[in-house]
Amino acid sequence: PKAPQRPHVVLLPSPGAGHLIPMAELARRLVELGFSATILTFTNLSAPVDADRLTPCLPASVAVAALPAVQMDDLPANVHEGRVLAELARRSLPNIRTLVHSINSTTLLAAVVLDFLCPMALPIAAELGVPGYIFFPSNLAMVALTRHIVELHEGAAPGEYRDVAVPLELPGGVSLCGADIPDAFRASFTNPRYAKLVELVRSYRLADGILVNTFYEMELGTAEAFKRLEQAAGAFFFPPVFPVGPFVRRPDPDEAAAGASSPCLEWLDRQPVGSVVYVAFGSGGALPVEQTAELAAGLEASGQRFLWVVRMPSLDGGNGHCRGDGDYDDPLTWLPKGFLERTRGRGLAVAAWAPQVRVLSHPATAVFVSHCGWNSTLESVGCGVPMLAWPLYAEQGMNAVILEEKLGVALRVPPAREDDRCLVTRHEIATAVKELVEGGQKLRRRAESLQKAAAGAWSPEGPSRRALEEVAVKLKAALGREK
Ligand code: UDP
Repeated sequence: PKAPQRPHVVLLPSPGAGHLIPMAELARRLVELGFSATILTFTNLSAPVDADRLTPCLPASVAVAALPAVQMDDLPANVHEGRVLAELARRSLPNIRTLVHSINSTTLLAAVVLDFLCPMALPIAAELGVPGYIFFPSNLAMVALTRHIVELHEGAAPGEYRDVAVPLELPGGVSLCGADIPDAFRASFTNPRYAKLVELVRSYRLADGILVNTFYEMELGTAEAFKRLEQAAGAFFFPPVFPVGPFVRRPDPDEAAAGASSPCLEWLDRQPVGSVVYVAFGSGGALPVEQTAELAAGLEASGQRFLWVVRMPSLDGGNGHCRGDGDYDDPLTWLPKGFLERTRGRGLAVAAWAPQVRVLSHPATAVFVSHCGWNSTLESVGCGVPMLAWPLYAEQGMNAVILEEKLGVALRVPPAREDDRCLVTRHEIATAVKELVEGGQKLRRRAESLQKAAAGAWSPEGPSRRALEEVAVKLKAALGREK
């Protein structure tokens, strides 16, 4: 007899490793809970390698289907990344609709799960009579912030929006000063970008639930606050949240096989256990030229061993994305004169990229100087490595608050300031690095205990497994009613 068909989930991640990788892990977990899945990928803005690398690592019951490219070249060059991705989803809606309808005709469709920048596709789930969920590759504090925005603008028209008041106290005790509020939420209400954001987050209310790439112990206060809000009869007007992570990059089998030839890992193998400061600012983090020089001087003055992933500096003086070209393509040429020679043996500077998860899990790595991107954060936590939090843009300041104030697994450099543009001095860097490598036992102990909690989140009785199981039960029950 034919095996009964598994209920099927369609997942739509935005382009980029930070969206694709956690969504693929979610698909893998759904398969463990008895589902099959299709991951839809955007062709625009995706390095083909993103989707191609995904496929060999996925279980057989997860298919990948590519959406056709849409025209995007008319957008102004300086548009914020989040808006570009949301616009891509909006323009792709007819293609998403066609593809989801066709998947529905050949499978037992049980749900549609959309990246947090794609909520405009929620009505497609409704048309087909299946639940629609939003997936946040970020954290519960971010969901709390969006919920706050929805509450603040309940019923308001664009001209009537209000600015977010500071300091902002989120449910669960995360308190944000102005500079730590994610950029997009800091725009003035008169800015058209803000109206777009409010429109986007308001549409989350159509979702049946919000799945979040975090775990209970990582955001205990916020998780409890959401429970209380959800239980307060009638007062809750936002979909229920489900912390189902941590979903992080798996060590790539090809990369692992090539491991012996990675200069970073070979170098780490030669360093004493717990001695190296790993410095990396994610895929987009760029420091101004002057700050790059100051960081170099700080690492040098600290006297500690370091592995630094050097990226092209930003030439406009700000923090954020920067692409090099022509003669300037080698970021190492921007380091201060003589720096590489003076630190040879105790420091290694590599251009642009390191196999981060493998570096963080190497026994020589002691501390992570990080921009606090959420993936880097979860990876560091998963390896039990304390951090020097150096947030640059987007929601990184908020992540740093969680790490330093709520979890006590990070020191912050620079300390939170209203002016997020000022220079972090070599002295501040050297002092913080030394403090963390030579002292830092308290932070290290907390990081180790959080690492255990992260590992336990998906154990048989783990809170993240239970949360996704709860969703799975709902989806299967809804299916029973429909068919
Ligand atoms: N990453 C890496 N090598 C590097 C820098 C980054 O492998 O040299 C990976 C890192 O492991 C993480 C991702 O790139 O999975 C960065 O994601 P995150 O959310 O931390 O920051 P973003 O790049 O989105 O700012």
